[in-house]
Amino acid sequence: MRRRPVIAIDGPMGAGKGTVARLLARKLGYRYVDTGAMYRAVAWRILRERIPPEDGGRVGELARSLDVRVLPSPDDFRVWCDEEDVTEAIRSLEVNEVVGRVAAHPEVRASLTARQRALAEEGGVVMEGRDIGTVVVPDAELKIYLDASLEERARRRWAEFRTAGLEVPYERVLEIVRQDDTLARNRSVSPLRRDPDARVVDTTGRSPEEVVEEIAALARALEGER
Ligand code: C5P
Repeated sequence: MRRRPVIAIDGPMGAGKGTVARLLARKLGYRYVDTGAMYRAVAWRILRERIPPEDGGRVGELARSLDVRVLPSPDDFRVWCDEEDVTEAIRSLEVNEVVGRVAAHPEVRASLTARQRALAEEGGVVMEGRDIGTVVVPDAELKIYLDASLEERARRRWAEFRTAGLEVPYERVLEIVRQDDTLARNRSVSPLRRDPDARVVDTTGRSPEEVVEEIAALARALEGER
């Protein structure tokens, strides 16, 4: 039997992937997998263990041994790292600042990519990240590349920090987003790029609901063909 579709959503930091993918999954009755949360969990752990983010060998070893799980909860999903719930902790400013360097190590990517593929195997999944349509699930039935202007993406991240009770100057957030773009686009393994088959959806000035409806219509058309 053919699997149910996999919807791959890629794009830069702050493009709206998290919000859109979550709402879309709920609407379609699919599972939602946030792959960025897995990289964040590794970053959170190296900060705690004081492992230098540049040390690919040690960071890779940690990523391999870590039990990172993204589990659905009644209202949303929770991220577990070994026996700890790190859902809120992985959104800290410190994690945002180092995660790009952590995600650039081939050893880390190899380990997390394998787990993400296993999660996509059965289908019926909305998976979001930077390399889902290009590397993790290249045969995904629907590929979306979400984008928005740099300023709007920084504004959204800044608002998220605020909601979480963190007062961070906008300029600093802009720098984090800019740096993440540079790292994600220029790394040698799995750089962020638009897959030729991906449909580009610009979210600048649009509500999440509007964007979700556009993608849900594409997904329904796809299910209709099957
Ligand atoms: O999407 P989010 O901001 O949570 O991603 C956290 C970090 O993980 C970013 O630095 C991003 O570049 C990286 N990432 C990645 N590959 C993915 C998902 C996220 O390199 N598939």
